[in-house]
Amino acid sequence: MDLTACLPDGPSPFAQSGSAVVTGANSGIGFQVARQLADRGMIVWMGARDAEKGKAAVAAVGERARYLHLDVTDAASAAAAAHDVGEVDILINNAGVNPGSEDIEATDLAQLRVAYETNVFSVVTVTQAFLPALRRSRHPRIVNITSGTGSLTWSSGPNPQFDSERVRGGGLAYRSSKTAANAITLLSAQALGDRFKVNALAPGLRVTNLVPGMTSGGDPAEAAAGAVRLALLPDDGPTGALWSFDGTEVPW
Ligand code: NAP
Repeated sequence: MDLTACLPDGPSPFAQSGSAVVTGANSGIGFQVARQLADRGMIVWMGARDAEKGKAAVAAVGERARYLHLDVTDAASAAAAAHDVGEVDILINNAGVNPGSEDIEATDLAQLRVAYETNVFSVVTVTQAFLPALRRSRHPRIVNITSGTGSLTWSSGPNPQFDSERVRGGGLAYRSSKTAANAITLLSAQALGDRFKVNALAPGLRVTNLVPGMTSGGDPAEAAAGAVRLALLPDDGPTGALWSFDGTEVPW
């Protein structure tokens, strides 16, 4: 399915209105998602665990941005944030960590715990906390920023986003956590029904703070545009799938 065929400019229910929560919005892809949604006229709650960084990001986005204190690994923080927001159309589960590129021999359990705490458990915690706020919307949308490196098909065959041979077997903690987040996306979509649109994004390799020292990769704004498309899906748009930033469907 070509996602671009059912995407905005036409039938998005959020033309120049609506609201969104973006987790981990103080940098990288999340910051760009917030900026692009605000540019489309939406009120954007920019989640950040660090108030100073979060408020600086809000100031950079401008008058449609709101600071939202949100440590995604802290259920009480997620509950308080959801209470403050009250009602919202779009939840972007973007916050993520990459604790290293080790393979099965070199990975220690601490790396797995770090990766799963943020990239898996927090997606559940934050989604559950915001479900009442999303249910108050007529067009609830959830976008989970996962990864093409979590696609088992792409991991066992060619990955068109980058040279998968280069990372063959590596990144066990990070990539398996993103596989789990992909599964959570599918099962959430099935449980929440067609009124919700719940999709995952494979952003492609981007130069951000995710991997310290990383210099090769694309512009995070390009990945953010893919997330924004999924956030603005019309009511007859797809749910329960993984999409590349370019709008093509990614096999699980
Ligand atoms: P980034 O610039 O490091 O952004 C990650 C964001 O998540 C930061 O704002 C970080 O906040 C936040 N975060 C981490 N733990 C958090 C917590 N417990 N509570 C709240 N916020 C937390 O990296 P990015 O590349 O934009 O990453 C965004 C998403 O894209 C991640 O889910 C990542 O896995 C995914 N992704 C990225 C790439 C890539 O090539 N860059 C590829 C595939 C997928 P702090 O500043 O406080 O740490």
